[in-house]
Amino acid sequence: MLTRLCDDFGGRLTGSAADRGAMEQLAAELRALGLEPELVPFSMPGWERGADRAELVAPLARPLRAVALAYTQPHAAFEADVTDIGAGQPADYPADVHGRILLLDPSTVLTTREYTRLAAERGAKGILFINREGGGQLLARTGSFVGEALPLPVYSLAQEEGRWLQRLLKRGRPVRVRLETHSHCRDVDTANLVVRLKGKSPERIIVGGHFDSWDLGQGALDNGLGTAQLFALAHALRGRELARTVELVWFNGEEQGLWGSRHAAATLGDAPVVAMVNLDMVGVPIAVNALGDESLVPALERWNSGRAVPLPLGVQNINWFGSDHTPYQLAGVRAITFNAPIPRESVRYYHDLADTIDKLPEQIVVDSTAIIGDLVLALAADPALGAFRRRPADTEKLFTAFGLERRMQAIGYWPHEKQTSRE
Ligand SMILES: [Zn+2]
Repeated sequence: MLTRLCDDFGGRLTGSAADRGAMEQLAAELRALGLEPELVPFSMPGWERGADRAELVAPLARPLRAVALAYTQPHAAFEADVTDIGAGQPADYPADVHGRILLLDPSTVLTTREYTRLAAERGAKGILFINREGGGQLLARTGSFVGEALPLPVYSLAQEEGRWLQRLLKRGRPVRVRLETHSHCRDVDTANLVVRLKGKSPERIIVGGHFDSWDLGQGALDNGLGTAQLFALAHALRGRELARTVELVWFNGEEQGLWGSRHAAATLGDAPVVAMVNLDMVGVPIAVNALGDESLVPALERWNSGRAVPLPLGVQNINWFGSDHTPYQLAGVRAITFNAPIPRESVRYYHDLADTIDKLPEQIVVDSTAIIGDLVLALAADPALGAFRRRPADTEKLFTAFGLERRMQAIGYWPHEKQTSRE
């Protein structure tokens, strides 16, 4: 199934024809299993890549290996001198960068929102952001998390080319670059895909993973892997007697700011949810993670210690930010994921051109799904569990206890969702 999605459609950027076509294909394959997939539509601020150009003009003429970051807006072609701003802190800026293109080092700790604001306030015309992965890779970081158009064009530049420009500038050589951007923001109508496997009880175990990916590669690891695991769960659990209802959700819009899971979490209402399991680039699990909620730990311990071969690192309880579990957590739902590393030679290409199906050994899908399915069945059957929502004050602690609040505030996510979190 995943090979067909990857090879027949390519990268599943939310709102693109490829993403829509691939989701229809997945729905058709689920129907062929005798299931009734449901498309749940929602809208989000999207972005579409155009035929952009980034070229070195001086000291030599050469196309740059660079691509626009999401939410870069179109502009007329221009040429400008390049200035190195190191890690992009205010103290790293020379006195005058007006009209210049800034070269930003991958060591920056600033979010896209922060470094673009600093650059725009100083009158810069563009940013070349050196990629954190080497080997000619184009894209690791992403653009806006809140759907805002970037105030100036930002290009992710292959690390080797970025280092080249840094060395030229260090020797006082003038560096001049030409940018031409056709990529643009646009509102997008898209959907999540849901399969509900009815149990004896309406209490729900939600298992979700994002379906969308970036556009350059095929999104095989990020997150075709989770897409395939959910499909394998649908295959394995259909027709099975379940004590609780299992809801499988393929989210769209994750890469651009968790839009699909935000929509799903915001429309949960009073649904009796026991827990949400998030599958985002989950390889073969070595531990299960309660994501900061102590109340889940006993059930996870019971499950793991009852396994013929327990996970080697057992149960962990560490919250982290930046995937589809976060909106559920903010809605008070308990969330679970796995500590499940993927070999470096496969995982390094995520978001980039080489995130293709050949990087994903089938055995990873087989072995991981066996463990994930085992946990889902245990959660669906455990009599000691029940529907549960945290109080907003406890939810806030879930993030502050792990120092996540600053980053969430910096990208403008925390205050917004706080208003929608439930009593
Ligand atoms: Zn992902």
